[in-house]
Amino acid sequence: MAREVAIVGAGIVGLACAHHLLAEGWRVRLIERGGVAEGASFGNAGALAFTDVLPLASPGILRRAPRWMLDPLGPLALPPAYLPRIAPWLLRFWRASLPDRHRHATQVQSGLMRLAAEAMAAMVETAGLTGRLRRDGNLELYESEAELAAAAPGWAAREREGIAFEHVRGARLAELQPGLSPRFVAGTFTPHWMTVDDPHRFALALHAAAMAKGAMLTTGEVRGIAPEGNGVRLTLADGTSRDVEACVLAAGAWSRELARRLGDRVPLDTERGYNTTLPPGAFDLRRQLTFGGHGFVVTPLATGLRVGGAVEFGGLHRPPNFARADAMLRKAAAFLPGLRTEGGRQWMGFRPSLPDSLPVIGPSRASPRVIYAFGHGHLGLTQSAGTGRIVADLLAGRKPEVAQALGARRFG
Ligand SMILES: Cc1cc2nc3c(=O)[nH]c(=O)nc-3n(C[C@H](O)[C@H](O)[C@H](O)COP(=O)(O)OP(=O)(O)OC[C@H]3O[C@@H](n4cnc5c(N)ncnc54)[C@H](O)[C@@H]3O)c2cc1C
Repeated sequence: MAREVAIVGAGIVGLACAHHLLAEGWRVRLIERGGVAEGASFGNAGALAFTDVLPLASPGILRRAPRWMLDPLGPLALPPAYLPRIAPWLLRFWRASLPDRHRHATQVQSGLMRLAAEAMAAMVETAGLTGRLRRDGNLELYESEAELAAAAPGWAAREREGIAFEHVRGARLAELQPGLSPRFVAGTFTPHWMTVDDPHRFALALHAAAMAKGAMLTTGEVRGIAPEGNGVRLTLADGTSRDVEACVLAAGAWSRELARRLGDRVPLDTERGYNTTLPPGAFDLRRQLTFGGHGFVVTPLATGLRVGGAVEFGGLHRPPNFARADAMLRKAAAFLPGLRTEGGRQWMGFRPSLPDSLPVIGPSRASPRVIYAFGHGHLGLTQSAGTGRIVADLLAGRKPEVAQALGARRFG
């Protein structure tokens, strides 16, 4: 009889882990307390941003942050009441932005992205999802030559990691995206960036492919994970328990407490993000656009046109402030004259974020049979297949080199 692995959380990361563990011959049980992919994986911007290798914790972000925070509905918000809670995270974020650490994290992120791109290509092929990808790149936009010049060190760092891009102006800019406001004088086109047709649909299709291969889904909330004999015992909120050979903790922004009970104090918090999805046809959008100076993107999806991003600290329990989504939509209407802004659906999601901008993928302190796969921040869709590959390697006793810098113990 095949060994059983329980995956806590059926977001995109848990689903990609399911895909890879099924391929290794595991009997896979997803345990999800809500609907499949209804957490952060539901409404994100749909980017497979394999070229986005620069950690957010960077000198550039620290320079921009004070200006952003002056605008109450701007790209970065921190309610004063949440400051005491987030202060240790911010201190770690600042430390992670120091030059040596930033360089190290860039190298780790680049290695993970190379693996993520290769593993995603293989996963979409075997799960029959190839037709769900758009391979038309991303266009980042600048309002002045000075803004492009300020971004130059970041592009130079990406160039060192072998990432292809093209700075564009004039006719080439207009060809990549007609109808832009003239305030945008330049752009950078990254051709190998992709997007999915719709992140929720993509995840549901991955789930359907896993179920077709024999995965099982249990609806329930996991309250405890503990080593038991040669395996692992999971305790659920309804008082039942389940013994399995191994467990993957992929509960996104909600993973912190379960990891703490396994002996790992991981500084996981959430960067809340907002968006509005307009009906299809709201604008003739040729590819995903990034308005880096304003902290949001516009994505063409099969289900409509999604406008959103921003970062709001505030934890898992405060109510959403959809005025943030309204503010981004107003800016998008100014940047894309003619954008039809009526009929949109608003959403807020909880990015599972670690201060060094890298996920935790590795064994728990309590047991090598409990593997962590959470904390992917802004990049969980992008890195989902790569994470699944690493998790399958670790449970098979293989030690992928890229995983060495991703363990929970890096936080001490
Ligand atoms: C506005 C926004 C835009 C984004 N854009 C992009 C993008 O373009 N590209 C990209 O790569 N990433 C993007 N992200 C980030 C991405 O959405 C996340 O990194 C990713 O979805 C995380 O996936 P996950 O499976 O770890 O978490 P989730 O999708 O949140 O899944 C975790 C699951 O665990 C379940 N769960 C939690 N606790 C328990 C428990 N105790 N028992 C059982 N189940 C439990 C939850 O119900 C949930 O379904 C964006 C995020 C936001 C908010």
